[in-house]
Amino acid sequence: MPPKVEFEVSKLVNEFCHLSVLYADLMPQDLAMGILQNKAYQRRNWRLREDAVRLELQRISPFSSDSEWYRFTTGLMKRNQSGNFESMATHSRFVEFFQDLRQRHATGFDEIWKETRPRLTEYQYDFLSQWAPISDKVLSRLHSLARNHWQTEKIRVRYIDCLCGGFAWNESIGLSTVPDMDIQKKLLAHELSELITPQQITLEELRKAGLDTEITHTVVDMLAYFSVRDLLAKPNPPNRERKGLRPNPSYYPAADVLFPVFERYAEDPSIYADFSSFVQDMILGLQSLPRGMMPKMLASVPL
Ligand SMILES: [Zn+2]
Repeated sequence: MPPKVEFEVSKLVNEFCHLSVLYADLMPQDLAMGILQNKAYQRRNWRLREDAVRLELQRISPFSSDSEWYRFTTGLMKRNQSGNFESMATHSRFVEFFQDLRQRHATGFDEIWKETRPRLTEYQYDFLSQWAPISDKVLSRLHSLARNHWQTEKIRVRYIDCLCGGFAWNESIGLSTVPDMDIQKKLLAHELSELITPQQITLEELRKAGLDTEITHTVVDMLAYFSVRDLLAKPNPPNRERKGLRPNPSYYPAADVLFPVFERYAEDPSIYADFSSFVQDMILGLQSLPRGMMPKMLASVPL
């Protein structure tokens, strides 16, 4: 049985991310330049930034790495045995500070939430009506493409209004919303694929071969794409697919050359004994390409 994907609209998660986006310059750099880099949101809410909060965040410096931030954020999505959110039950200066800000309504989020909550709730309702009939299919498909087992019975998904894109961590996913529901299905499939694709295997094989290790992310997105493609609305005209679905070569290195490789694999994953054999074959294919076709790969240093 594939895991159950559970959706919820959470003020706590949204409020924490609001703070993270507003003070992105004090967050881990990769996040500040990635999912927290919502410039429109920052511009719109710039007046909510306060020196006192900035100074205190600077002093506490609560998240020294991406993973610490992910751990904290996903700990706001699940409750411990006494019914409190895991991250809020930990004792740290940041938790105290965040509690205090919330109690004093000092993050400026209450006003924003009045408008955001009904919008996210409605969006979630619409999305669920389309996702529910295909959820099990996408998850089983990912399971058979990744040749891996789901590690959990439940996956939590939270819509986070101020985020750019999404993230997946253990059994939790945070996602922003996009108007096109098919693209949203693909985004969710991408985060689900992050959870089940054996990235370590891919990473090690790419390293051994001296290839760009970012291709690991291309593999994640390819499996996501082929897990949902046949469940989306048929393109019209049939040969013109909408943008944003197919792995985009400007984000995912080697996406163009790898596309037919994955297409063949998706038709019949059993042509390979296991995921490693598939990855090894994919790498052989990349290595046999003329150098000029893979400029990105050559730029990276083999580890
Ligand atoms: Zn990703």
